[in-house]
Amino acid sequence: MPISIAIDGPAGAGKSTIARRVAGKLGFIYVDTGAMYRAMALFLLRKGIDPTDAEAVSGRCREAQISIAYRDGEQVVLLNGEDVTPFLRAEEVGNMASVSSANPQVRVKLVELQQSLARTENVVMDGRDIGTVVLPQADLKIYLTASVEVRANRRYLELTKKGEAAVLSEIAAEIRERDERDMTRAVSPLKQAEDAVLVDTSQMDIEQATDAILALYGQRVEEA
Ligand code: C5P
Repeated sequence: MPISIAIDGPAGAGKSTIARRVAGKLGFIYVDTGAMYRAMALFLLRKGIDPTDAEAVSGRCREAQISIAYRDGEQVVLLNGEDVTPFLRAEEVGNMASVSSANPQVRVKLVELQQSLARTENVVMDGRDIGTVVLPQADLKIYLTASVEVRANRRYLELTKKGEAAVLSEIAAEIRERDERDMTRAVSPLKQAEDAVLVDTSQMDIEQATDAILALYGQRVEEA
């Protein structure tokens, strides 16, 4: 059975950057499950579907064929054959994803894809429900978090660096809203798995957090 490391946590804790680095160091593939939910959200946005209309989302999500591929070691997401990776990080898509990902049909479809990847490859997979639902047998589970203030500030710096207008208090409010939705939804809410190790990155940089996870993985391997 291939090895799997599950990294869950709220938006802006540094999951993707850290998971990608851990995967790179270990020679595992990095699976960004948020990008799959974002691709589904993009599909629904393009079709003009109201994300709160459960029936419409359940019905139409079947038309979206989502798969992932690797180009130069980076994950790209294909939506009905089109590489939609460049469109996935927009705020609008993220906010839509956090609504449409609560739909059980959407989850069943994408969880199947995630599980099938972990059956054949050593993976570092990040998301909200990886340790709790997708890979309950993961070899190592991490719950990666940071305070709302720190996460908002990181996002603010990221946007202003790109020259985009941003208001810190608005970003913090959006993060709170997204956390609330992800943590209180009926299906697969974001929560720390009982056997997950909590890593709080509020006072850590990317390298320290990556090293902390690699050290935890090293311990697991020694114990096994
Ligand atoms: O991590 P990212 O911000 O890209 O995820 C976008 C949205 O997709 C999240 O707000 C969350 O609602 C949803 N998601 C999820 N389950 C996952 C990964 C992401 O519900 N495993």
